[in-house]
Amino acid sequence: MSVVTNQVKRAFKYRFRPTDAQAAELSRTFGCVRKVYNLALQARTEAWTLRQERVNYNQTSAMLTSWKKSEELAFLSDVSSVPLQQTLRHLQGAFTNFFGRRAKYPAFKSRKKSRKSAEYTTSGFRFRDGELTLARMREPLDIVWSRPLPEGATPSTVTVSQDPAGRWFVSMLCDDIPAPMPGTTNAVGIDAGLTSLLTLSTGEKVTNPTFERKDRARLVRAQRVLAKKARGDGANRAKARRKVARVHARIADRRRDFLHKLTTRLVRENQTIVIEDLTVRNMVRNHSLARAISDASWTTMRGMLEYKCAWYGRDLVAVDRWFPSSRLCSACGSLQGKMPLNVREWTCRCGATHDRDVNAAKNVLAEGLSVTVCGAGVRPQRRTPGGQPATKQKTPRREP
Ligand SMILES: [Zn+2]
Repeated sequence: MSVVTNQVKRAFKYRFRPTDAQAAELSRTFGCVRKVYNLALQARTEAWTLRQERVNYNQTSAMLTSWKKSEELAFLSDVSSVPLQQTLRHLQGAFTNFFGRRAKYPAFKSRKKSRKSAEYTTSGFRFRDGELTLARMREPLDIVWSRPLPEGATPSTVTVSQDPAGRWFVSMLCDDIPAPMPGTTNAVGIDAGLTSLLTLSTGEKVTNPTFERKDRARLVRAQRVLAKKARGDGANRAKARRKVARVHARIADRRRDFLHKLTTRLVRENQTIVIEDLTVRNMVRNHSLARAISDASWTTMRGMLEYKCAWYGRDLVAVDRWFPSSRLCSACGSLQGKMPLNVREWTCRCGATHDRDVNAAKNVLAEGLSVTVCGAGVRPQRRTPGGQPATKQKTPRREP
């Protein structure tokens, strides 16, 4: 008897209210996680710069054992070892991405700016009767169950974090079987635009949500207040800093929510989604705030599209960034000369008039479909939490 399922790993995130003891234990753990990550990163960097040696995960794991035995790092033994091992695995992943040219060189975690989080695998927590108890804690976490876990679900990984606004979150990775989406044969190409958030090959333009402008104005005000508080003025400065963090958290929450709705809609409406492969390395340097947010959104959105396509059996295809999507006429296929960024609309020799972004999205779609039809040069690119390759990737083709 075989059971046909489309089982996937899915993260369920909730807020929780730690006791004072739990908050203290977790804060200690976050500190140790950061320390171990930084020590291992330093060791790996030095081994490479001094001796051209690559250090792997197992070696950093052995280092961790020796650090715990040393006098000045003995405090690392005061917290659960599970999140410390996990952070070494994350560092390994960061290096794999760096060597695969998918990410920049890993950066040190700073006490103030880095995300405070700790990841526990099954040996680091107990989940029983709907109650979650972490290693070195007696009482289960007081979780605010804003939605139920799937029937009979047992988390395989638990991540605890605290955001800059001071809110506590627990994210549980569980097996889940997503409800199927209606069948469709639609295909869509997406252009990550400069003027709008994205443009679809259907001609639709998705702009940045209107609430963002207001939120950003609020952020600028809060930052101005913070800047005026003198360094010595402890209490007021801390208050102003929390205010800035709260506005940041609100922006991130609303944007995430917006991107979730958008990506779910795209996946629901289409069987095939074609995107441009904008890797971190290739991204155009631009220091404007709007652009930075837009880039971050694109990265988040791509991740969402990857796992949602895997969940619902849709196809996500990434075409190489240097494919000349802007300069190719989607009507006749002829290649134009230079196309400065300020040209928003143009007319081809064949008589077709194009909106720059819509034309690019149409080309992205055509390029992506040719990849799926001939199947040549397709390789799995990244793995989803469920372990299935979600993205097909076209081999690089440089602009002539
Ligand atoms: Zn043309």
